Amino acid sequence: MDTRPGQRCSFCLKPEEEVAQVVAGPGSCICDECVALCVQIMAGPRRPPAAEPEVPRWSTMTDEALLDRLPLVAAAARQVEDALAGWVAECRRRGASWARVGTALQMSRQAAWERFERTR
Ligand SMILES: [Zn+2]
Repeated sequence: MDTRPGQRCSFCLKPEEEVAQVVAGPGSCICDECVALCVQIMAGPRRPPAAEPEVPRWSTMTDEALLDRLPLVAAAARQVEDALAGWVAECRRRGASWARVGTALQMSRQAAWERFERTR
């Protein structure tokens, strides 16, 4: 785990500038507010579904709310993709073949190369 500038919480999607702290793991981040919520949830009794924390649900969102959220979800996806690319680059630096990388990711050697090497 570490902290890097420009991170966004993978749970609430807030950028680090809007929270006190963001902790980064491999491909995901969590902010202090979500950590506090998790601690509260884990410490307390199980709540009925109606009392669960507010998480965006497609069924309750308007089309505009969904569209407004798309850039945030895309930013989180890019964050995960960047982390995956870093892991692949480290495997390659250690001598792993594209075939091994492809097998690990359940894709062909060619597909792995195209996804991670060709676009660098
Ligand atoms: Zn958060």
